[in-house]
Amino acid sequence: MNKPRILFWHRKDLRINDNKALMKAISLSNAITSIYILDKNYSHDFNAKSRAWFLGNSLQELSNNWKKMGSRLVLKEGDPLIIIPQLAKKIDAKFVFCNKSIEPYEINRDLEIKKNLKKINITFIESWDHLLIEPSKIFSGNKKPYSVYGPFYKNLKSKIKLLGSYDENKSIFELKDLDNEIKENPEIKSSHLVLENFLKNINFSGSKICPCRPGEKAAEILLENFINKKKIYSYNTARDFPSYHGTSFLSASLRFGTISIRTVWNAKSNLDFVIKNQQNSLSIETWQKELVWREFYQHCLFHFPELERGPYRKKWDLFPWQNNQEWFQLWSNGETGFPIVDAAMRQLNSTGWMHNRCRMIVASFLVKDLICNWQMGEKKFMEILVDGDLSANNGGWQWSASSGMDPKPLRIFNPYTQAKKYDPICKYIKFWIPELSKVSNSDLLNGEISNLEITNYTKPMVNHNMQQRLFKSLYAEI
Ligand SMILES: Cc1cc2nc3c(=O)[nH]c(=O)nc-3n(C[C@H](O)[C@H](O)[C@H](O)COP(=O)(O)OP(=O)(O)OC[C@H]3O[C@@H](n4cnc5c(N)ncnc54)[C@H](O)[C@@H]3O)c2cc1C
Repeated sequence: MNKPRILFWHRKDLRINDNKALMKAISLSNAITSIYILDKNYSHDFNAKSRAWFLGNSLQELSNNWKKMGSRLVLKEGDPLIIIPQLAKKIDAKFVFCNKSIEPYEINRDLEIKKNLKKINITFIESWDHLLIEPSKIFSGNKKPYSVYGPFYKNLKSKIKLLGSYDENKSIFELKDLDNEIKENPEIKSSHLVLENFLKNINFSGSKICPCRPGEKAAEILLENFINKKKIYSYNTARDFPSYHGTSFLSASLRFGTISIRTVWNAKSNLDFVIKNQQNSLSIETWQKELVWREFYQHCLFHFPELERGPYRKKWDLFPWQNNQEWFQLWSNGETGFPIVDAAMRQLNSTGWMHNRCRMIVASFLVKDLICNWQMGEKKFMEILVDGDLSANNGGWQWSASSGMDPKPLRIFNPYTQAKKYDPICKYIKFWIPELSKVSNSDLLNGEISNLEITNYTKPMVNHNMQQRLFKSLYAEI
């Protein structure tokens, strides 16, 4: 009996290895045609220059990997609602396989596609791949979705132990030899053009210095550097210092799925037998806690899709934001006169990536010193970040604005205290703001840069203490 033809749709899983839906598809049939669609309704996947670079290069590698297996990746631009049923019908597919997504637009799109495929007798099969645990499998004691991170983490950890390892998912498979069919296939010919065109239009100047690297191979190397070179052992302390390279830089790889979250999570199991002391295991746990923040924000967005549109805590709708556009521009450009804030924004503008500690500092500054609605910052980050992701970005901004799930009512970061603690020798500040390289560290950290010392650098645009008091009084009103 002939094996059924399958259309495999890559979305946020730009890889062959440890790909849940792909494994399922392969177990059913090796007659697989794969596709990626530059979805015109979901252009935030590639409207940031950095993400277009990451996506384009990852697609190129994915396309080569399919080729090595005797198949090809079809690439199209447009509306998946039209493209998926059309292509599935054309190749006489019996099934469309893909991995589930959690964003509101993606969920609705997939529901619609499933319905349309059903009308033409094609089955749409989805797997959970992007998460450690599916949202329907973890609830709080009162059977509600979690809205607080701590208990979510505890429960997830206990469930993960039960779930065990996923190593068996390494994908080694033989595809049906499609070479003859492929050579003359117009879909394949046009795919080359789509990719070529996309790559040609990439205009990201930070590609050499962005610490995130596109493609499946590079993600493996990043993980290897972090785990096997033992960076993970000092993560607990190093992760907070933006001048150290103390984190994994895997955020964009996880965002685009060039590596699976299971591979990342299980990587530390290679270390278990050599863990030497308590500090090492604490560091490993701290890193896993960060991976669970990613998981937590995705579960939150899945269960509370309204997060996409506004604050979780509704009283924030009433907050009298000042939204001064000139101030916002100075913040965006890294010209606030607060060295740690400006260094961070310049890192973002140059590399498409920003250190987590600095994301918290600049977010707090925009919201609580400049009194701009956090959604302005959320949007700006999405325009630039290479790892820009609706759930993590929205979660990070709502956390910083105190409008989200975090039970702590009001958190205000003092940019000077943060710099003293996390950039004590001003290495990060002076790297990103070379015009301050001659200023003494203590003047820099105390905000006492004299007129003489300021060469081309600006004076602080606001007084932190005054703004903090103003913010608190406005907050008291809501
Ligand atoms: C205002 C704000 C906006 C943010 N926007 C994004 C975003 O758009 N995309 C994004 O991936 N992360 C975002 N983060 C989270 C975090 O800053 C980045 O994930 C992290 O800096 C990436 O560096 P890394 O890969 O070296 O992380 P590591 O420290 O090595 O952490 C490992 C992985 O855990 C996940 N992770 C770590 N910290 C967090 C966190 N606080 N929240 C969610 N996931 C986390 C990431 O997938 C990361 O790759 C944001 C944080 C803040 C405060």
